[in-house]
Amino acid sequence: MSTRSKKGFASKVLEWLFPSRAACCSCGAEAVLDEHGLCIDCHLGVELFNAAPPLNYIDGYNAAYVYNDVSSAMVKKLKYNNCKYIAKELADVLELKHGWRIDAVTPVPLHYRREAKRGYNQSLLIAKHLCKRLGLKLDTSLLVRSRDTRQQARSTGAQRRRNLKDAFIADDACRGLSVLLVDDVRTTGATLSECAKALKKCGCDKVYAVTACFTAPDSKGEYNDNI
Ligand SMILES: [Zn+2]
Repeated sequence: MSTRSKKGFASKVLEWLFPSRAACCSCGAEAVLDEHGLCIDCHLGVELFNAAPPLNYIDGYNAAYVYNDVSSAMVKKLKYNNCKYIAKELADVLELKHGWRIDAVTPVPLHYRREAKRGYNQSLLIAKHLCKRLGLKLDTSLLVRSRDTRQQARSTGAQRRRNLKDAFIADDACRGLSVLLVDDVRTTGATLSECAKALKKCGCDKVYAVTACFTAPDSKGEYNDNI
């Protein structure tokens, strides 16, 4: 056994004998956590993503979690409570699908005014951790948000699409590339589609997308992610 694997084995034994307690990334309770930062209750309550309808201009899509009480609490903590460490926990659950060849990874951009107000772009934090883990290249210059769109919670798909029209501008550097978009939550998917449309207008070859959470509309067709 190498020194490194001996150390890994020893730390696993120590963790088993003396489990460390820390704040759960979802409910905040001090508890023994699973490998993705969740206490046992949240571990049981979280729902892994399975499948979603296709999106215009997007060549493939994957997510980590279905948007529910557990995963939405994680995203809200990341976005509004300055809990930046949650970006890594979310990114660690994200996987590329078989056959995706990725030249560059770019987060869905925030408008500069909103990013300045929040102090960071949560999707960029997720993208950074994903790139580090999978050895991918991050390129934040490929896409900019040209205007600040209104907060989108509680709006219908059609309202969102109108609101987002031409809100993103892609850089010519994306020509011929296969780009992976990263965002925190997919609701209608209108944001991802608008980003992909802008990239493809500029000659981007393929656009794939991953989001930490995927949410489906309610029975009235409304999206209420309350974020
Ligand atoms: Zn919990």
